Amino acid sequence: MYLYNSATRKKQEFVPNHPDMVKMYTCGPTVYHFAHIGNLRTYIMEDVLEKYLRYVGYNVKRVMNITDVGHLTSDADEGEDKMLKGARREHKTVMEIAKYYTDAFFADCAKLNIKTPDVVEPATNCIDEYIKIISVLLDKGYAYQAGGNVYFDTAKLERYYVFGEHKEEDLAVGVRDSVEEDTNKRNKNDFVLWFTKSKFEDQALKWDSPWGVGYPGWHMECSGISMKHLGEDVDIHCGGIDNAFPHHTNEIAQSESYLGHKWCNWWVHVLHLNTNDGKMSKSKGEFLTVSLLQEKGYDPLAYRFFCLQSHYRKSLVFTWENLDNAVAAYNKLIARIAALKEGGDVDAAVVEALRAKFMQAMDNDLNTSMGVTVLYDVLKADANDATKLAALAELDQVLSLDLLEKAAAVRKKQAAAPAEGGFAVISQDGEENGEVEALILRRAEAKKAKDFAQADAIRQQLKDQGIEITDVAGGVKWKRA
Ligand code: AMP
Ligand code: ZN
Repeated sequence: MYLYNSATRKKQEFVPNHPDMVKMYTCGPTVYHFAHIGNLRTYIMEDVLEKYLRYVGYNVKRVMNITDVGHLTSDADEGEDKMLKGARREHKTVMEIAKYYTDAFFADCAKLNIKTPDVVEPATNCIDEYIKIISVLLDKGYAYQAGGNVYFDTAKLERYYVFGEHKEEDLAVGVRDSVEEDTNKRNKNDFVLWFTKSKFEDQALKWDSPWGVGYPGWHMECSGISMKHLGEDVDIHCGGIDNAFPHHTNEIAQSESYLGHKWCNWWVHVLHLNTNDGKMSKSKGEFLTVSLLQEKGYDPLAYRFFCLQSHYRKSLVFTWENLDNAVAAYNKLIARIAALKEGGDVDAAVVEALRAKFMQAMDNDLNTSMGVTVLYDVLKADANDATKLAALAELDQVLSLDLLEKAAAVRKKQAAAPAEGGFAVISQDGEENGEVEALILRRAEAKKAKDFAQADAIRQQLKDQGIEITDVAGGVKWKRA
């Protein structure tokens, strides 16, 4: 498999350090609010990466942190702890907020078929790990104390900007624009490893340390949690592109200085989901959640399908129109699968050929949009339905679109409907639409009452909405024209 590595800026053949095990670390959510669907784009793509690695035969150990302390409102260590801000907003304690939004995060992940990582570790669980790393960094001369805090000294490094794409001046913006410049820092990019002096005396979570009562810096969490569960090396470390600087840059600085050797081989960054007026962000206060999509009648898996249709290294623009197109395509795909008949012999050679095509797409830097088009190749294949269903089941181990389950539900609905009410309204594309169904039922009643003018008027009304209906035995079939 070839996987793009942000650290080398190249697609490289993926080879894990240990032949039988891939160590994978993914930055987890800051649990001060719901995850927005942009955050979830990142988690969907990481989920596909993990599942694909397993599909091709690797054992994967995947670790994810839950940031429940230390992530300040500016990534450049300025402002107050986001958790504290969330707690104040909702008049709750920080731990209540953390529990509520951690549960909400995993509930959203479940709706999107995102598997829970093997290890999920809240940052507040690993204070001893951070203290150990910070002590060694101080001993080795990579860190200094100033104004009560402990800082990493970026001037001690030969190369700090590992992801290279940034100009130093751009990088300084985060610091310049911040709430209040930290005059304790020796260099503008130095970052906090341990806070004791906080401008916010009501910081809720604090622990004893050799440097005073305080709390860890955000970047320290991911180094500490990764080393606790994966040891001294990592094969793949993932996150959204905004994590590349300063978060991942600082993780590398402190981890490699502490370990004295290279730490992580592949850095995989997912580009953002944007709206037409810019990046979707939690701090803007207004954002789209999975629950909101559901309230509007969208199936969360149609959003997953929408994400899979584009490459993770391209930014993705969210509009309702784009989502509606994905919904229509997803429903059509399910309807076509529902029309396949179960039973019969599977042609293993055909499945193998389709598998090879899928792997060719995914081996090329996880090209999920090409991977999705292989689903249509399956439907078009010169093979019986049993073979097609077998191939779809296999590819869905990675794509997790519930293709067969959804198709079975459509089949069941189609079979059960006439028996229930004596009159079935069958959506040929699998689309659920209460408004259309209600109109079709009103037309049926008008016909029963011999009010043909009314029945024709309703048919016309549906036609004007782009809905085509066909009278069949026991009901009506409808689809979008
Ligand atoms: P946070 O909860 O803010 O720490 O972010 C969780 C994850 O979502 C991180 O990996 C971020 O890089 C990622 N992320 C943040 N905003 C977006 C976005 N608009 N699109 C995709 N990923 C994002
Ligand atoms: Zn992280």
